[in-house]
Amino acid sequence: MSAESNQLDALLSESRVFPPSEAFRAQANFNDPSVYERAAADPEAYWAEQAQHLTWFEPFTKVLEWDPPHAKWFIGGKLNAAYNAVDRHREGPRKNKAAILWEGEPGDSRVYTYDMLGREVDRAAHMLHHLGVRKGDRVTIYLPMIPELAISVLACAKIGAIHSVVFGGFSAKSLRERILDADARVLITADAGWRRGGQIPLKANADEAVAGTAVEKVLVVRRVGEASGAKMTPGRDVYWDELAAQMPKTPYPAEPMDAEDVLFLLYTSGTTGKPKGIVHSTGGYLVGANTSLRSVFDLKDTDVFFCTADIGWVTGHTYVVYGPLTAGATVVMYEGAPDWPHRGRFWEIVEKYGVTIFYTAPTSIRTFMKWGPEIPAQYDLSSIRLMGSVGEPMNPEAWMWYHEHIGGGRAPIVDTWWQTETGCAMIAPLPGLVAAKPGSVTRPVPGISAAVLDEEGNPVELGHGGYLVITKPWPSMMRTIWRDDERFRRSYFGKFPGVYLAGDGARVDEDGYFWVLGRIDDVINVSGHRIGTMEVESALVDHPAVAEAAVIGRSHEVKGQAITAFVTVKEGVTADEALAKELKQHVVDKIGALARPEEIIFTAELPKTRSAKIMRRLLRDIAEGRVIGDTTTLADPGVIEELKKLYKEND
Ligand code: ATP
Ligand code: MG
Repeated sequence: MSAESNQLDALLSESRVFPPSEAFRAQANFNDPSVYERAAADPEAYWAEQAQHLTWFEPFTKVLEWDPPHAKWFIGGKLNAAYNAVDRHREGPRKNKAAILWEGEPGDSRVYTYDMLGREVDRAAHMLHHLGVRKGDRVTIYLPMIPELAISVLACAKIGAIHSVVFGGFSAKSLRERILDADARVLITADAGWRRGGQIPLKANADEAVAGTAVEKVLVVRRVGEASGAKMTPGRDVYWDELAAQMPKTPYPAEPMDAEDVLFLLYTSGTTGKPKGIVHSTGGYLVGANTSLRSVFDLKDTDVFFCTADIGWVTGHTYVVYGPLTAGATVVMYEGAPDWPHRGRFWEIVEKYGVTIFYTAPTSIRTFMKWGPEIPAQYDLSSIRLMGSVGEPMNPEAWMWYHEHIGGGRAPIVDTWWQTETGCAMIAPLPGLVAAKPGSVTRPVPGISAAVLDEEGNPVELGHGGYLVITKPWPSMMRTIWRDDERFRRSYFGKFPGVYLAGDGARVDEDGYFWVLGRIDDVINVSGHRIGTMEVESALVDHPAVAEAAVIGRSHEVKGQAITAFVTVKEGVTADEALAKELKQHVVDKIGALARPEEIIFTAELPKTRSAKIMRRLLRDIAEGRVIGDTTTLADPGVIEELKKLYKEND
């Protein structure tokens, strides 16, 4: 094997640059460029300074203890996450400020001020206590995106119980696996949830999931009501509203937690394999989340922050609950689907609440592109002053579309690279300081040291791809995998000792900007060249007919692997042989003959996780005619059957 064959080839070049406007820079929270050098020179001092934005019951006496792969941050410090997210605001001028603006899918809505939210959290904490929950116990939460979800999370935090939120779209089987792994004593769920006008039978799933587990009590929120047909098991199940009515109306005292006490565990999306239970601490996680809102999202007291992620994912934990609330923001929370009852629903919400900061995923942006710009054009989006993206590489064309059609060519975009494991955004521009380049996540945020290494652990040469790593510990890093520290060591610190391996490929350009090339597991090897999925997919999405693309490598006698591209076209486009030919040529023109897809398969849908990320490993299984791997986190199993059929027809 030649030396090059271990390197990822970088093919795409992108020269557009979007510096922050002078007006944006002037008002930004972080507008002194020296913050980068300061934080790099002494990261511990930087993080200790950021930690002062939280309220500590007892101050920490030491910033960091690093015994790789285990880090402890803010040693000796005591704090409570719910106190920081809610109660401390009740004591000051934010008392009657809107904390959560909630929009239900059927069109109902609720507003919670910080004071109201605090009372709800207290009552929920009393309920959990009544049900026997104590500090350190695990509570599994399986709810739709209703206010009770945020309230449950915060009530656990207030008691010092460890929450494990399971996305409401998961099946009974997936819920059960997560309950068993966490050994939860209490489950919080709802009678049912609304989705595109239909019902998700949450309670029925929960009944199936808890049988024979350690769950003793099930707390049930009435969301749909009688029509749900939910059945209650006496002695085990209790309705939220009925129990709440019996609770004292007194504050529930916030449990003083050690900075290193576990705040929550959360399972990853399962894009590359079986999900892992990621463990986060109280102090470090909160410092990371809170700092991120003030720096990357430039949060002000006047902002209305709308993150479209479900709280079932880490993005919802950090950017719907803990980040914005510890920073005293007004958060918009939406229960339903972006296309229910119409395709303008997000934009209607932006207009209704005057959203100023909007955060979503590339998969949503590509869907909006597919639907066409006429839809957002019907709404007043002028309140938006900053936009973000997370979850997958953002193809440059998706970036441009977002910039133009949602941001009015005016609002800066922060493309944020991070993971469930990292707790908050790691590589992302500070919008007042860093010029954006479409498709790049730009620079590590202050206090974070990232690098791209080759197989031997040396930094790769400029322009080449390699392993994306984090070289120093950071406050919101995962502490371990729940009950599997050995797997934690092996998966994240096994390749390069003392260095965190992210599992993504990346390259760094001449300006020090990072470009994520895709998952290491998805890298394609064509004639000795290792190609990331991102660049080939971006070249395809660059074609005006294409909405979304996923590429994989399939065994090929001569080349080692050949590229197969699965492509979704925009509405109204005819997907035929001529277009396939044109697309292959387009890839060749954009990035070179090396990346020419051997075959193009048009499909209406791509297989995605429930967190809406493309699952290329399943596409590989299809193309290679293998048994399909772990599909428990697949959003729509029907897609796989459909693709198998398409693939055969194409053969
Ligand atoms: P699993 O680890 O179980 O396979 P997952 O990696 O999809 O699932 P998450 O923690 O939800 O679980 O996702 C993190 C991953 O998402 C990153 O490792 C990266 O591949 C991708 N990602 C997130 N943000 C970005 C971004 N801005 N640009 C490129 N990729 C991103
Ligand atoms: Mg991952």
